[in-house]
Amino acid sequence: MKTQYLGKTKGNIQRYLIENDNGMSVEVINYGARIASINIPSKIGKIDVVAGYADVDEFMGDNPYFNAVIGRVANRIGGAKFRLDGKEYKLFKNDGNNCLHGGEEGFDRKFWQCEIVADNAVRLSRISVDNEEGFPANLHVSVTYSLTNDNAFNIEYEALSDGDTVCSLTNHAYFNLDGDFKSVREHIVSIKASRMTVVDGELIPDGSVIDVKDTPFDFNTQKAIGKDIDCENDMLKIARGYDFNFVLDNDMHNEVATAVSKKSGVKMSVYTDRPCMQFYTGNFLDGIEGKKTYGYQSAFCMETQVFPNACNIGKEDMLLKKGEKYKASTTYKFEW
Ligand code: BGC
Repeated sequence: MKTQYLGKTKGNIQRYLIENDNGMSVEVINYGARIASINIPSKIGKIDVVAGYADVDEFMGDNPYFNAVIGRVANRIGGAKFRLDGKEYKLFKNDGNNCLHGGEEGFDRKFWQCEIVADNAVRLSRISVDNEEGFPANLHVSVTYSLTNDNAFNIEYEALSDGDTVCSLTNHAYFNLDGDFKSVREHIVSIKASRMTVVDGELIPDGSVIDVKDTPFDFNTQKAIGKDIDCENDMLKIARGYDFNFVLDNDMHNEVATAVSKKSGVKMSVYTDRPCMQFYTGNFLDGIEGKKTYGYQSAFCMETQVFPNACNIGKEDMLLKKGEKYKASTTYKFEW
């Protein structure tokens, strides 16, 4: 195992590389606590399975949260407002009438402090101050990325607040296990979730859930992403593909999802202690130029989270009380 500081870019971004003994490596940058690359020595050669840029300064340009940590609250907050302890908080509307992924300048657009904390790990931290993006209380946040010799890439989130607030962190990695970012439709996916969240025309969950059995949303038996994606279905139409919150049948740290590329033979398994996962098939990607061209459905995301919009549907999932420790973990484990 080896972790090294690769230096600073022109744009002042710090780069770190974690390598394991099997030829797998992950590059992490302190801008947005983003994953710049995940390199796998697959059977078709070395491939990078996340979206991004050869020049990491370009992560600062326009892109939909490429591989960033999302906070203070991942996903959409309906009406860009919520009530907490009897007070209403107004957020920035960056998605129609709603607040998406932390607001105008979320955690994905911030520079984090970064340090090497083990021979296989880096920790990034920052303070999200009271009223940043309209959220109450000072929140100390850290994210630790580590890579193991069993090819597991672990993400551990911690946070502590000096007042009551809301918090739900995730990573917005865009994967394509073929490595070519042409299409994810042939990827074989499983998601251990018998229910999913219903969304309205603006993709806002109203709190209701449906059984996925006998619907295009059933991934309990693995299937190609493309198998049912074009089915006649209102929600699929609104989202232009999959972009939904799956309620995981999760008893803590079990495998909750898998994805396999037939082209490269790479398999990714997802483990988490979160109750839910947003499965998004890159339906809003429109041909962004980076290491590859990132077009419609060229990448997928498996964003572990709590119930989206929980703060508006009477759920306590994202409530973080003063002095209470927030802890969350997700692992993306690879085989090839
Ligand atoms: C959301 C999508 C959104 C994307 C990028 C995903 O987490 O579910 O609706 O377009 O992030 O902004």
